[in-house]
This record gives sequence, structure tokens and C-alpha cells, in this order.
Amino acid sequence: MSDGCTVLLTFDFDAEALWEGAYGVTTPSTLSRGAYGANLGMPRILALLARYGIAGTFFVPGITAERYPDLVRRAHGAGHEVAHHGYLHVSPTTQTEGDERTALEKGLEILEGLTGTRPVGYRSPSWDLSAHSLRLLAEHGFVYDSSLMAWDAPYLVPVDGGSPQLVEIPISWELDDAPYFLFAFRPTYRVGLADPDRVFAIWRAEFEAAHADGGTVCYTMHPQIIGRHHRLQVLERLIRHIRQYPDARFARAADVARGYRAHPGRSGA
Ligand code: ZN
Repeated sequence: MSDGCTVLLTFDFDAEALWEGAYGVTTPSTLSRGAYGANLGMPRILALLARYGIAGTFFVPGITAERYPDLVRRAHGAGHEVAHHGYLHVSPTTQTEGDERTALEKGLEILEGLTGTRPVGYRSPSWDLSAHSLRLLAEHGFVYDSSLMAWDAPYLVPVDGGSPQLVEIPISWELDDAPYFLFAFRPTYRVGLADPDRVFAIWRAEFEAAHADGGTVCYTMHPQIIGRHHRLQVLERLIRHIRQYPDARFARAADVARGYRAHPGRSGA
């Protein structure tokens, strides 16, 4: 008998910053791939979530928020959570502690300025934390991080070996659209271009097992990747599938993190 299941739909709205920050590529054609996420990906995702009355979580680099303030305001205004995703989409593992702190503070200021709400969640660009990240997050009042992969459901991570503790909303590469779909010739060849049916089957199976466990499942998508028509259909099929289970609920990461902090250890796998 299932205790229900919590489903998080999260979107890393990187736009051009993915290519500039993570890959160091600034050529016009490559950057236009990022712009696709803003021009078409975001509006399509926002429309899809509105159609199903679902609130998701958007992790946004500060520079992307500066470039597309209206989209960030629209997401916030529609009831979605806007969370922190670095400033230039540079991995903290390549930054000094001072640079990481500056990026964190800049991102907070920009997102809070646009939405009127201080972000409480952080996801590292490139999904890799530095030795300083968790302490910096705790110092800046974050409730949760979403960059680690030790569990399916939320868990607590110690900061510098003790308290205070942050809630971790774990991610996984298997539930991220990028490894399946993101194609690139340069600077690193990536195969991508997976069959959408295959990805749907994997994501559906993960949901069904999490549901049977009364657990949590967190999907990560990128507007410039999932925003293509044939891939957005994967997301819509998944939503429709999950909707068949009356005890499954969609939730924003901040709400899951706050709920877990109030009652740690209550959820399933
Ligand atoms: Zn990203």
C-alpha cells in the first residue's frame, strides 16, 4: 500500500549561460541554442504547467535573470518557485571561495529584486559543489540545496561536519533531460538526441517505483532541451500518467524542503 508520492518538476533555465559558463563557447549559433530556451522553451513550459495547474521550480542563473527579467517575473507570478543557480553558470569547483560568495550574493540580489522574494533554494551550475558551497548556503540563509545525489527523497546534509543543516533535494542524471537529449559537436561531443519514448519509459518507471515506496521523485529539465515539441510531449505524457494516481502530488522544491525540515525522516525512499 502506497503512502502517496511527491513529484518535483524542476527546470534549470540556463539559456545562453549554459554555453558561456559551463562550456566556454560564445559563438552566435551556439548561444542561439540557449536563446531558444527563453524564446520558446520557457513560454511552452509555463503554458503546459498552467494547463495542468502544476507549480514547479525554476533554477535561474543571475545573468539569465538579467537578460530575461520578464520570464522570471512571469514564472514567479504564476506561482512557481524561482531558485538560485549561480550567476554566470560557472561551476563553484572552479571558483575561489571569494568568487563563489560574490556569485551567490549577486544571484540573490537579482532574483530577489525581480520577484520580491528571497530565494531559499540553490542548485549548483554543473551539479558540482565546492568544499565551501554548503557553508556559504547556510550562511546566506538557504533552506535547501539541490546538487547532491545520495538518496531519492529529501535528506539533511551537515554543514562543516555539524549544524546548521541544510535540506538536500536530491537530483539524478537519470532524471535529467540533458544526458538523454543534449547534442553537441563541440567543445565536447555529446550524443544526445535520444528517442523520447525511451526517456518517457525510464521516467515513468522511476515514478511508479517511487509511488510504490511512498517516496519522492525529482525531474530536472532545461527549457532549451525539453522545450522542443517532441520532447515537451514527454513531459506532458508524464504529467498525464502521474495524474492517474490520486495520491501523487506535484510540489515545489521549497515546500518539500520546508516540510522535510519540520518533520525530518518522515518520507519514503
Ligand atoms: Zn544549469
